[in-house]
Amino acid sequence: MASNTTKTGQPLDRAILDSLLRRRLFYTPSFEIYGGVSGLYDYGPPGCALQANIVDTWRKHFVLEEDMLEVDCTMLTPHDVLKTSGHVDKFADWMCKDPKTGEIFRADHLVEEVLESRLKGDKEARGQKVVVDEEKDNKRKKKVKETKVVKLEDATVKEYEEVLAKIDNYNGEELGQLIVKYNITNPVTGAELLPPVSFNLMFQTSIGPSSNLRGYLRPETAQGQFLTFQKLLEFNQQSMPFASASIGKSFRNEISPRAGLLRVREFLMAEIEHFVDPEGGKKHPRFHEVQDMELAFLSREIQLSGRTEVEKMTIGKAVSTGLVDNETLGYFLARIQLFLLRIGIDESKIRLRQHMMNEMAHYATDCWDAELFTSYGWIECVGCADRSAYDLSVHKDKTGAALFVRETRQEPLHIEEWQIDLDKKKFGPRFKKESKTVEAAVDALSQELREKLSLDLEKDGKVEIDVEGVSDGKVVLEKDLIKIEKRTRVENIREYVPNVIEPSFGIGRIFYSLIEHSYWSRPGDEARGVLSFPPVIAPTKVLLVPLSSHQSFKPIVDRIALRLRRVGVSNRVDDSSASIGKRYARNDELGTPLGITVDFQSVKDNTFTLRDRDSMKQVRASEDEIVAAIKSLAEGEETWNDVFKRLPEFLGQDVE
Ligand code: AMP
Repeated sequence: MASNTTKTGQPLDRAILDSLLRRRLFYTPSFEIYGGVSGLYDYGPPGCALQANIVDTWRKHFVLEEDMLEVDCTMLTPHDVLKTSGHVDKFADWMCKDPKTGEIFRADHLVEEVLESRLKGDKEARGQKVVVDEEKDNKRKKKVKETKVVKLEDATVKEYEEVLAKIDNYNGEELGQLIVKYNITNPVTGAELLPPVSFNLMFQTSIGPSSNLRGYLRPETAQGQFLTFQKLLEFNQQSMPFASASIGKSFRNEISPRAGLLRVREFLMAEIEHFVDPEGGKKHPRFHEVQDMELAFLSREIQLSGRTEVEKMTIGKAVSTGLVDNETLGYFLARIQLFLLRIGIDESKIRLRQHMMNEMAHYATDCWDAELFTSYGWIECVGCADRSAYDLSVHKDKTGAALFVRETRQEPLHIEEWQIDLDKKKFGPRFKKESKTVEAAVDALSQELREKLSLDLEKDGKVEIDVEGVSDGKVVLEKDLIKIEKRTRVENIREYVPNVIEPSFGIGRIFYSLIEHSYWSRPGDEARGVLSFPPVIAPTKVLLVPLSSHQSFKPIVDRIALRLRRVGVSNRVDDSSASIGKRYARNDELGTPLGITVDFQSVKDNTFTLRDRDSMKQVRASEDEIVAAIKSLAEGEETWNDVFKRLPEFLGQDVE
């Protein structure tokens, strides 16, 4: 069971962490001096660097390693594209309005908050320990007036827990029924609410000065990738399977943005569309590399039974038992987990939750979310869906574009079928203007019908065919006009619309979860936190601290700073008068993994101490050795333990 504690076992104090993130400019609310707009945030220097490093790792892990085709499509999207994809009609959440105050609630969140609040009241009434998310709880106390200590019937507790376990599975009507059944009202005023109505989450705009071309800010990057499929297939020399990838902003007009970066209105997404042949079980050539990886699964069945416990299983077993629909989907679930571990996410706080049927798009075959545990509970950070052939098919049907694969069959296909020949010379004079309509109706005849008609033709010398759009709605064709025969057709070319497996990453959510997972404080110094980012991900890799303001240190510090920058290692100098220990502690908050101290010995023999943020251990070596060690740590080629083993430990000077 994941718990809301840091790696030292202390409860995570979100108020302290939040203040750190604002104070050190990881991110802050946008337009703050104008009062702010909820759901919009700006990133400061460490936030930008951290995000850039996550994205960089993502690119290496997926685009580079999997040889994906990256595209960067526009965010402004015309109405027709999103109408065809289904977003104009279906990309919506359910909201309830208080007719008196005009206040709006997201229906599923309201049900969740009120039931959680009642369960909490029940636990208190039973004298049980209640672990609360304080911020959420304080907000709820302000909002939900019925946070009363009231004992519930055992059956009611069970019912509420079951509803909460499948809260994502309800549609608008069902949410409306729950609101009535459990007497859920405006939590502040107690007023009755109107039934849930659907609210489209896309920001609408118009493109160009005439306002004739309706458009939207894209709600996902996926559609741009589908529309370039044909060009990418050509770029890939018609070779399948392949994947496209895209990193860019998406926009959703969330009804109730909340929980900092976790539900915002503008966010960075990194999405992959892996195009695969639907025939042959959607195998993946590299599946064997990951098949023994153990993952934590929360299946649809478990959720529907009102429970939330995970089952650990290898991805190989999950695919072979059918829990995960196919190898390609399984391969990506494992690769997603590897990516999360690579950037420093805590493995015990990852689970893969399967979508329930109602939650899943109607065309999807299977869908899993990688959820990360944070002080806000389990948060969906990566979605991984098998979208079948839906997207390419709808855009192909709408535009006529060749969004499919044509390939030469290795073995030609011999197809036995009923074929029809029409005597065109006689056909034209006989049916005149209606010839085309009749011909089209004949072409559309099914194989079954053709077989039956061939018997009629032999028996009666004529056949009767239904034709929409001609007088009487049918025509009679005699033997001299039509011939129906069983023949063998050889097919050398195969055409198919690929299926799409789509891993979709919300970078902001991963960014925030990573911060929580990396955060801890040294015993005795709880007010000052440490962010233990892996060196590859850390915003700044090295802190340079001269022992004092002695003038002999400055040229050395400048020289090393420049030398590190030249090899691509970000660093900062802290030459303030604070003690070395304080200076290091300040940078622990920024997650800087390494520190170089420049002291009098350095002036004499050009050796330096290198300090590790987490263990606070130090080594001492020559400038060349220290720079080389830093570079290999920053690039993830070595760990601190490797460096500590090969360079002499330095115990001489206690920097704390
Ligand atoms: P979806 O297309 O809804 O499956 O979303 C894909 C990913 O985008 C999710 O797994 C989240 O990580 C992220 N995401 C979706 N909505 C938001 C939001 N309002 N704020 C931040 N991230 C989001």
